[in-house]
Amino acid sequence: MVVASTMAAVSCAAPEVPENAKLIPVVHDKGYQISLGGLEKLHPFDIAKYRRIHDALKGDGLLGGGNSHAPDPLSHDDLLLVHGEAYLKSLESPKKVATYLEVPQVAHLPAFLVKKGMIKPFVLASGGTLKAARLALEHGVAVNLGGGYHHAKPDSGEGFCVIADVPIAIRKLRKEGKIKRALVVDTDIHQGNGTIVCLAKDPASFTFSLHEDDIYPVPKEAGDRDVIVPAGTGDDGYLKLLEHWLPIVIRQSNPDIVFHVAGCDALVGDPLANGRMTHEGIARRDAYVVSECRKRNIPYVMTLAGGYSDGAWKAQYESIARLMRGESRP
Ligand SMILES: [Zn+2]
Repeated sequence: MVVASTMAAVSCAAPEVPENAKLIPVVHDKGYQISLGGLEKLHPFDIAKYRRIHDALKGDGLLGGGNSHAPDPLSHDDLLLVHGEAYLKSLESPKKVATYLEVPQVAHLPAFLVKKGMIKPFVLASGGTLKAARLALEHGVAVNLGGGYHHAKPDSGEGFCVIADVPIAIRKLRKEGKIKRALVVDTDIHQGNGTIVCLAKDPASFTFSLHEDDIYPVPKEAGDRDVIVPAGTGDDGYLKLLEHWLPIVIRQSNPDIVFHVAGCDALVGDPLANGRMTHEGIARRDAYVVSECRKRNIPYVMTLAGGYSDGAWKAQYESIARLMRGESRP
């Protein structure tokens, strides 16, 4: 009897969080979940991916031991660091939000539902990027299980992005005197046109984007370093480009922090792009960016951005899980 009860107690105990995972702060909140009465499913963006990744990491015993953090929502003044007052007011209009989301049916929803089901989650997840940046400054590496809304511009939203989370975090930290120079490494396969416009007049920020040429957004904006990834590029071709350019842009920008917009829509089968990368390639890509930052002692922040193929969330989950287990190898 004694033996049986001891075994039951052991099997119910939560798994011990690995030491390496305790060193990687992860920011998440169930309030990240967008919910517009089902209409959110009309856009290919996987609105459940934040929760899926969180739950999978938790199921693996990788969250706990002080590494799990809640975001602080951004204040109106924080949003004004990048966005105009008139644009923020437009987020109260379902008609306007429908165009930013590219889901016309949203125009017919009541304003309170759009505010609660969409704007609030975006603002919260954007606060998560700022929180992850603060944690990265303290711990070296941090992950926000959301954010990377790189198509949001100061006075308009597009491509399912309405809040420019990364530019806001950069401005806020600079205002507080915590950083001077920032580098944005955007490996989502769509150009981060919004980030580029937000930071265009900011000489202390550097935007590096690897993207396909003939897909959205068209036309492209002129970033500080734009590298074209040819359609059909697989893991080795992609990593060759990244390994060539990343050390160069780090040297050029000499950043106090790196924000990684780590979308995984370069994966094979993505309906909005033409890449041929595998889950393994995404993990190697992320590991490479992290290792280049670590060896120079530059704080690194991961945000999730896009990824639309079936099970794309798993690629990001696997990449983050490896990082947390200390198995991340470029
Ligand atoms: Zn994308």
